Amino acid sequence: MRTNLSNLAAVRNLGILAHVDAGKTTVTERFLYATGTTHKRGEVHDGTTVTDFDPQERDRGITIFAAAVSCGWDGHRINLIDTPGHVDFADEVERSLRVLDGAIAVFDAVAGVEPQSESVWRQADRHGVPRIAFVNKLDRAGADLDRAVDSIRERLHPAPLVVQLPIGAEDGFTGVVDLVRMRSLVWDGGDGTAVEGPVPEELAVEARRRRRVLEEAVAELHPAALEEFCARSVLSEPTLVAALRDLTRTGDGVVVLCGSAYRNRGIEPLLDAVVAYLPSPLDVPAVRGVHEDTEQRRAADPEAPFAALAFKVNAGSTGRLTCVRVYSGTIEKGDTVWDPGTGRTERVARILRLMADRHVQLDRAVAGDIVALAGLKSARAGSTLCDAGAPLLLEPAVVAEPVVSVA
Ligand code: GDP
Repeated sequence: MRTNLSNLAAVRNLGILAHVDAGKTTVTERFLYATGTTHKRGEVHDGTTVTDFDPQERDRGITIFAAAVSCGWDGHRINLIDTPGHVDFADEVERSLRVLDGAIAVFDAVAGVEPQSESVWRQADRHGVPRIAFVNKLDRAGADLDRAVDSIRERLHPAPLVVQLPIGAEDGFTGVVDLVRMRSLVWDGGDGTAVEGPVPEELAVEARRRRRVLEEAVAELHPAALEEFCARSVLSEPTLVAALRDLTRTGDGVVVLCGSAYRNRGIEPLLDAVVAYLPSPLDVPAVRGVHEDTEQRRAADPEAPFAALAFKVNAGSTGRLTCVRVYSGTIEKGDTVWDPGTGRTERVARILRLMADRHVQLDRAVAGDIVALAGLKSARAGSTLCDAGAPLLLEPAVVAEPVVSVA
């Protein structure tokens, strides 16, 4: 059965990167809630979060194991790979980064860029993972978006592109002005749904000034935007959105949003930004591998020979589950795969999509998917699984190349 490639365009394989305590688990939790994947909001402090499902992890209150969770937003499937923020788990972060197409870097609005956020950021740079930034905890005393953005500019990236202006501060943080659409979003309930309206009069001048700063920064980095800016002295919303998407994907700019995950403020715009700016599996370069000293390239094509990378093995009550990123081809339940590392052939008994609190059985998984395979006995994190008729070894050669530059 031919898979519609346009389905792949609606997939986002996403990681959330952060210094410990910046709010990664809370953001993940709110994503699952906003997307209807869970109906009860879990809280980190009472141990009910659904991504940290290992009891040891709950006890320690930090994310130790990378769990993959799938959710839907605005017609898109978002596969969330939960990467550990703790420095002791750098290997696991590294492995997770290999399978991501994009990431959200979460920062604390009081602390700004912290050492671990910096080291994870550098790792993501090495893997060429496009990122957007979320400055969290704007409700905290001492929170300051501008200062956090300055620390991003000074320590991580020369071109933060701030697309929101906060409304209110600290305890009075109630909403944002969306500088792309020039509309206000105000959260007055606890469920994360914003009431949209015009830009408040008292913020109109500041919002226009910041929109101008954003337009100038984008025009400086993006040739098509520059052309429009020079011709008309302003950027239209479609040009601005397209330029922000290009700059995110090339890594030339970093879109910055803000909010308070704990108070459920800013989550829906963040999901919208994931869909608008971060790449799908079709937008990233073909993955590279080797076979008998010859380089192989595999694009995200469901019709190509099967190739996947295992990035996490969970042995739990449901048996041994091997989390894989499928890079090319299609795999069906009952198929056999070859592990060139061990020379073994293994049979895939079941294919599962990992939701927060349950697993959904699938008949097949295609290029671009992140799924768990049950029935594999010897594959480990880092194993390549491929079609025995078209062998290749992915891991040593999974080196991200720069995404094609903006035309
Ligand atoms: P992680 O270590 O990055 O996964 O961070 P957590 O999501 O576990 O959050 C760390 C602590 O910060 C927890 O006690 C959260 O309740 C709290 N927290 C998370 N987001 C916010 C926020 O927006 N505002 C405030 N005030 N606290 C938050």
